[in-house]
This record gives sequence, C-alpha cells and structure tokens, in this order.
Amino acid sequence: MPDYTCIEFETIGAVARLWHARPEARNAESQTLLDELDDALGRAVADDAIRAVIVGGRGDHFSAGHDLKEAQAKRANFTVEQRWAYESRRYYDYALRLWDCPKPTIAQVQGACIAGGFMVANMCDLVVASEDAFFADPVSHTLATAAVEVLIHPWVMGLRKAKEMLYTGQRVTAAEAHAIGMVNRVVPRDRLEEETLTLARRIAEAPPFAMRLLKRSLNRTLDTQGLRIALQAHFDTHQLSHMTEEFGQRRDAGMAKAIEKGKGR
Ligand code: ZN
Repeated sequence: MPDYTCIEFETIGAVARLWHARPEARNAESQTLLDELDDALGRAVADDAIRAVIVGGRGDHFSAGHDLKEAQAKRANFTVEQRWAYESRRYYDYALRLWDCPKPTIAQVQGACIAGGFMVANMCDLVVASEDAFFADPVSHTLATAAVEVLIHPWVMGLRKAKEMLYTGQRVTAAEAHAIGMVNRVVPRDRLEEETLTLARRIAEAPPFAMRLLKRSLNRTLDTQGLRIALQAHFDTHQLSHMTEEFGQRRDAGMAKAIEKGKGR
C-alpha cells in the first residue's frame, strides 16, 4: 500500500473503507487527494477479497468540495486545453470510475457534502448520512460555473429538487435528502460508521459476481435513459462556463473569497 498523504485506506474483512483525510481543510479535494482516492479505488477493485467499498471523510465533514485555494494558486490561468485535461481526468473520469466500480459502494456522509464532495458522494450506489449532514452545490452562485463537472444531481434527487438546490445555492438537509430518496438512511452522528459498516457487511455477504452483474444492470437502466450522454454534454457546457466574463470576474476577485461568501447559505 502506498503512503497516502490525503486519504486513508482501511480494510475490515471484506469491506474497504476509503477516507478523505484532510479534516483540517474540511476534506477539500486537492489534486493529490483525488489521485490517491482513485488509486485506492483501483486497489480495492483489484483485490478479490474486497466485496464492498465505503467512501467517507475524517473529521466533522465529508468534504467541502474541490480545493479552490489550490485551484486559485495553480490553475487560475489555465487555457481551455489545460483545464479540459485537468478536469476531464480528475473530476469527470475519476467520478465515473467510482460510478462504474464493479463492487457496491456506499458514501458515508456527515457535515458538509458540497460541490465536488457532493459529486463524489453521489457516485456511490448508496448513501448513509448522519443527522447533521447537508448537501449543496452553490458554485453557480459563488463561481458562476454551470454546477460542478458531473451533473449527477437530477439523477439522484429528481429534476425539481435539483433545480431548487442549484438555482438557490442553498443546502438540502439530511432529513430532506432522505425524504426525496437521495439518501438511503439517516442515523445519529455517533452511529454513522457502525451503521454504514453493518450495511456494507450485509452487502458483502452476497455472491460478488452476482452483485457485479446486478450493478451493471441497475446502472444501465440509467444509461438507457441517457445518463452518460447527458453527463458528457454537461461536462462540455461546464467547460464553457469557465471561460465567461462572469467566471473571470469571480476568479479575479479570488475564488476563496467567493466561497467564504457562499458559506452559511
Ligand atoms: Zn470546473
């Protein structure tokens, strides 16, 4: 196992648990964190002893989203070509790799699950949330981009609620997320890890190849409805939104500042 610096990889019997592990930065998804998460997922997939994967976050929050301080420092002046290369690999392809993971996956969510964090959590098959969890994608308000790179929102929360969340930039609580079927279970914060692990262990009891085939069929249900083409089309549109006057003004004013303003919505 490599020496990861931004994630932790645990195995508990037949379950692999991957943690965002930058709690001091609200688990902001830096380049290294995303590279490590993808690497760890690949190892969990390759290990025949692993039959279910949990994706969680250390500390008080699942993830506040992409690391925008790093983005401002390293990628503010990216050309179209450079941004495309970066975002198609680390945001789009990594996310879809999680969606297509041949083993069942569960997001274990507490506190903030925002923007890029929302995208990653919703690539998982199931979501278990603690009562304090909240979900938001405020970037159209704060950064003037068209949502995040992977527009999974309408597929997991319904078009009506997705529009409300994205148009307002406001939070969806764990209770609301549960009511609309975006979250499978809501549990007290101190029970989150145990309840998620119990669910993962139950799933891990099933014959793994049957699970793999079942997941393919379930995901193909959405493919027949156009999931993949819709996601690809949105990625292109999202790239366009990075080149607008509106985005440029916010970038020049400082993305981190824009995010501060967006907090507490
Ligand atoms: Zn982007």
